[in-house]
Amino acid sequence: MHLKYKFIAVFFSQKEKNECHYVLMATNTYYKNLSENNRGIFRIRTLLFLRTTGFNSEVGFLLKNNMKILISSAFVQITFGLNMMTLRTFNSIFVTPRSYSYLNNKAIFDGDVNLYTKKVNMSWPAIERGFDIPDDAMNLAIHEFGHCIFFENATRSFLFKIFKGRDFEVWKKEAVDALKRVQLRELKVLRDYAGTNSIELFSVSLETFFEKPVYFERKEPNLYWSMAHLLKQDPRNTSDPILK
Ligand SMILES: [Zn+2]
Repeated sequence: MHLKYKFIAVFFSQKEKNECHYVLMATNTYYKNLSENNRGIFRIRTLLFLRTTGFNSEVGFLLKNNMKILISSAFVQITFGLNMMTLRTFNSIFVTPRSYSYLNNKAIFDGDVNLYTKKVNMSWPAIERGFDIPDDAMNLAIHEFGHCIFFENATRSFLFKIFKGRDFEVWKKEAVDALKRVQLRELKVLRDYAGTNSIELFSVSLETFFEKPVYFERKEPNLYWSMAHLLKQDPRNTSDPILK
């Protein structure tokens, strides 16, 4: 294990690491399929994210530690190939016990990233469902964290970008083409919602990237590889996904 992780690991007890392991083995397929060494790194990154992120929930709805671990693991999964280990701006998560709506807006949400309050809102049943069915290309937590990473990348200065400039340019080019084809119902790998705009396209692509990587790569190799280079990982290699 890299020295950096050995150093961070010192800040967590064996009990915390064990709990993290058991929760993720039971709930997160990506973690379960990783090699022993990668699992060790994944655990430390999950505990670090959990500790540096504010978790809140509705009064009367108890947010247990195993829930926080599962939510954190979605972020770690997306960023496993990147240096980014925490969120700077959207580092406050509010979990609701059910779908919700906003005042003066009829729409029902399972999750949203609020650009004004800088909060990530997610409903627990939808988060759980996302991980319970690991191969339907639907994962709310991955979707919402996809938005957070996208927005943070946009607001960071040139030197601190999350994505490499050239990789992001390649992805943008692919995304423009993909967006048109989703809207024309020509690109069928991604669900229709991806056709809303390039931000939704990114998050829906992420869900498909992690939950149907083999199918995605076979049908849309250019878009798949633009994602793989952006995130520095190929989830088809389940035990060791990070690109060398
Ligand atoms: Zn969205």
